[in-house]
Amino acid sequence: MFSEELKAYNWEETTARIMSMTEADVRRALTRRHLEPEDFMALVSPAAASHLEEMAVLSRHYTQERFGKTISMYIPMYITNSCTNSCVYCGFNRNNTIERVVLTMPQIEDECKAIRNLAPFENLLLVTGENPRVAGVDYLEEALRTCRPYFNNLSMEVMPLKSEDYARLTKSGLNGVVCFQETYHREKYKTYHPAGMKSNFEWRLNGYDRMGQAGLHKIGMGVLIGLEDWRTDVTMMAVHLRYLRKNYWRTRFSVNFPRMRPAAGGYQPNTVMSDRELAQLTFAFRIFDHDVDISYSTREYPDFRDNMTTLGITSMSAGSKTDPGGYHTYPRSLEQFAVSDERSPEEVASAIRDAGYEPVWKDWDKIFD
Ligand code: SF4
Repeated sequence: MFSEELKAYNWEETTARIMSMTEADVRRALTRRHLEPEDFMALVSPAAASHLEEMAVLSRHYTQERFGKTISMYIPMYITNSCTNSCVYCGFNRNNTIERVVLTMPQIEDECKAIRNLAPFENLLLVTGENPRVAGVDYLEEALRTCRPYFNNLSMEVMPLKSEDYARLTKSGLNGVVCFQETYHREKYKTYHPAGMKSNFEWRLNGYDRMGQAGLHKIGMGVLIGLEDWRTDVTMMAVHLRYLRKNYWRTRFSVNFPRMRPAAGGYQPNTVMSDRELAQLTFAFRIFDHDVDISYSTREYPDFRDNMTTLGITSMSAGSKTDPGGYHTYPRSLEQFAVSDERSPEEVASAIRDAGYEPVWKDWDKIFD
């Protein structure tokens, strides 16, 4: 399990190692085709900030080599905002007095139809809060079966489950799971996730192993930028990704590094990442792992997403609503976070085409399943 491997990485020592990287370390990393975690640390270090152009060229090259000039399009569907956790940065936090919604199957079906009317999406990401009593595995299974006729490729952003539950859901059409570790800082983790199931760092961290053991086709990883030092967090995620690749080599992986957005409760990020730093991180991940899917959501601003289209990212969401029932006519409940890119899916697709890339609505891998 990865929790054992992570013990080899002391937080403070890793931060100090990253901050001590030199220009020579960066140049060495840029000459290698197969990078070690040490090289990744150099590329996310302040020393690499003056090598952004070089990194962008390499990142574009590796991305085109592996993915061609394509951006895979996906859309999230929030099916419940009911949650028993109390993540301090989230509007769905159980302590917030908002209207809680758990969509029924007919309501989910209405959402499916509304999305299909919006654009030709085939990649759907079902998103849930964490409440096993009202939205447990039985509910998730039913939701997958309801969505299956409408979409070719189903993923879920869902609470960490047992391996057998992931395996069971794959039989109902689940193709991939996205889970955010949020932060790899073992000691500080609890201050952001003080109560509920999510307060168990190890259970969450080892969830990725359980996904791999269940044979999931795709695993999505992520840290929330704005909690702890981002350079250290993403380095630990890179080490985690390398570990998962070794152990679950049949699985595909994606990474996501959302910058914290305003939420109900007004939690302010501890660290702020600039656009240049997010670009540096994106390039570093691509140079470190040529095959990983790098996803940008509508949390990012239109101009920034457009500028990054040709430089390393491989999938984007568009037209997103972050409230359950948001695509159909249900009363609007509180959003999980405010989106920054409010363009329609067609507008986003058109910007991708303007950049000389092709928006891909369908995950053709499904053919090989
Ligand atoms: S981040 Fe997820 S688990 Fe935490 S309060 Fe929000 S919905 Fe619940």
